[in-house]
Amino acid sequence: MKFADRLKIEPSATVTINSIALQKKQQGIRVYNLAAGECIIDSPEIVKEAALKAIREDKIKYPPVAGLAELRQAASSWLNELYSTSYSPKETIVTAGGKYGIYSSCEAMINEGDEAIIIAPFWVSYSEIVKLFGGIPKIIQTKEENHWKVNLDELKNNITDKTKILIINNASNPTGTLYSKKEIEDVLKLAQEKGITIISDEVYSGLVYEGEFISFGSFKEYKDNVIVIQSTSKNFAMTGWRIGFLFANEEIIKNITLLQSQTTSGAPTPGQWTALAAIQNYKEVMPNINKEMKKRRDLFYDTFNKLFNTNITKAESALYAFIGLPHLTSLSADSATFCKQLLEEANVASVPGIAFGVEGYVRFSFGEKEDELQQALQQLYKYIHS
Ligand code: PLP
Repeated sequence: MKFADRLKIEPSATVTINSIALQKKQQGIRVYNLAAGECIIDSPEIVKEAALKAIREDKIKYPPVAGLAELRQAASSWLNELYSTSYSPKETIVTAGGKYGIYSSCEAMINEGDEAIIIAPFWVSYSEIVKLFGGIPKIIQTKEENHWKVNLDELKNNITDKTKILIINNASNPTGTLYSKKEIEDVLKLAQEKGITIISDEVYSGLVYEGEFISFGSFKEYKDNVIVIQSTSKNFAMTGWRIGFLFANEEIIKNITLLQSQTTSGAPTPGQWTALAAIQNYKEVMPNINKEMKKRRDLFYDTFNKLFNTNITKAESALYAFIGLPHLTSLSADSATFCKQLLEEANVASVPGIAFGVEGYVRFSFGEKEDELQQALQQLYKYIHS
């Protein structure tokens, strides 16, 4: 069969690793999971109850395309209260996960040949989504010694007449990097001068353990130039419900609603009612998840540093440790080979740095339960020293 040229994109590396790990599990093989892109934690009772109530009350019909009015209201209040933004419900749309928010933003903004600046290490899907719409990903590499942050001059040097969007991930998967107020202001100013729209992926905003999270959407003078991507997946540990949000000016929301009307018809209705309960109770739900994930992060790094005799600094946010290969092996393997062998030979799932656009690193997730993390790290150590 002759498929469309746009299918010449890479499959999501994280989804691929998780599928291999799942296949192994189905064969009865014990797999140690350091690849989870989610908090492995039970949903709070309030959220489970809301889900059951929605189903019992038969709230399962088509939703309004832009989302339930109650949820658009609650989501905008949630963001405004937590991160000093000023979005109205009309500047809010409910999407089928944060990923669909990024997808539809790119669909709305990118014409064939437009350039999209992406900062590496980047979340695995950005460049492939850009390519789907005929865009050209322009990757800027960053370095660990610079805390994986993009330098303003480098950003300037990469802007051309064709630059349409900049995708930035704050707080970052896979590095946990957080941008400061001054750094954000500098990027916003530059983007406005050059007429570039910023897609700010903030889906890990609630999983910040040190430092302060600042939203790109919180600077009123630059608000029109920014699309904020949010989600209940990580902040509320609700990955499977597929509920995310996109905050932007009304013109952008109208156009994304138009696209949504001809694609998903909106995010799943039962998920929206469930997300509403989670968001209405965010003051209780979010700190509990954050506290648990901080505990797991500390356990992961403390155990790793002890076992491997290293002194690696803990990630300030998100769910991942992005660790240089020299800390793991003296062999000169590339990250994809290392992770493949680690999964095949020791049944430990991790994600190669190259999937995030940076060679020489491996991403380990600390989203799993503490016991699983302990066992997985022991298994990793045993494999490396065997
Ligand atoms: N953005 C980042 C940086 C992510 O890591 C993920 C998921 O792993 C997403 C967006 C998409 O999240 P979801 O579609 O589950 O809301």
